[in-house]
Amino acid sequence: MTPIQKFLARHAPILEPATLYCPEHGEYSGQYEQIHPNSERRPSPCPGCQARRAAELAEDRQRQAERAAARLIGELDPRPGRYYNDETIPYITPDVFVYKIGDEYVVVLNEDGLPKLRINPYYRDILRERPQAAGGAKEYINDKIRSALWLIKSIHQRQRTVYRVTKSIVKFQRGFLDKGVAYLKPMVLKDVAMDVEMHESTISRVTSNKYVHTPQGIFELKYFFNSSISTSRGENVASESVKENIRQILAKEDPQKPYSDQALVEILKKQDILIARRTVTKYREMIGVLPSTRRKQII
Ligand SMILES: [Zn+2]
Repeated sequence: MTPIQKFLARHAPILEPATLYCPEHGEYSGQYEQIHPNSERRPSPCPGCQARRAAELAEDRQRQAERAAARLIGELDPRPGRYYNDETIPYITPDVFVYKIGDEYVVVLNEDGLPKLRINPYYRDILRERPQAAGGAKEYINDKIRSALWLIKSIHQRQRTVYRVTKSIVKFQRGFLDKGVAYLKPMVLKDVAMDVEMHESTISRVTSNKYVHTPQGIFELKYFFNSSISTSRGENVASESVKENIRQILAKEDPQKPYSDQALVEILKKQDILIARRTVTKYREMIGVLPSTRRKQII
């Protein structure tokens, strides 16, 4: 034996195959290991216990990773844009709803935002039960009750007006409700005023800042009033629907060869819509589109 072989023979562990026993996993085949003739025999670990330990370590690492991720997510801002924009978004609560039920459009007022107003019975009782209450107090309460009643009545009246005006708009704008803005009919305040037998100024007042929820989206009631453009067939088209028309034409234009306003006039003419170039310019500006010279893309 070479000296190295002698060294190894003396120091290499002695491995002795054996059937071992784990109190948890039962019998397994492994080996006893003896590092030195004088040291104790050591059984090789149970594969079942080893697997469990490995699984525990993996789970630990997984949990740590999850905790780190949760910590990171917790530090993030769910509304990252708000640092760059302090504009508050106006959420519109419709004042009135138009639902399509079967073939009918039904108008329903939104009473949600309205407080349920009533006179506090305490004050009524004072008037009824204590007629001898000091003259000044009685008069004061009477006066307040009168103005409260007036307020309640005007709110109800305003609601009724919104309801009637919306119903009238639905009647005139059935095509729009069915098919969208391209079918918006020209309509002026006077049309509705005559229909509901109210003054034009009242209609104007109740349609400003009042919103209707329709199957086509949410619109200010005022939106439905718009001037008309004549077609060569002698019909009238709503300016809003002409604007929509222009929007659709521009959406399809070749960005390298944008339509000039005059070109738009010609295209609309082919659709029987006769409209002056300056009106096209006005509508184009209203829908927020730059002139063709500025829209042109070189590359
Ligand atoms: Zn085991």
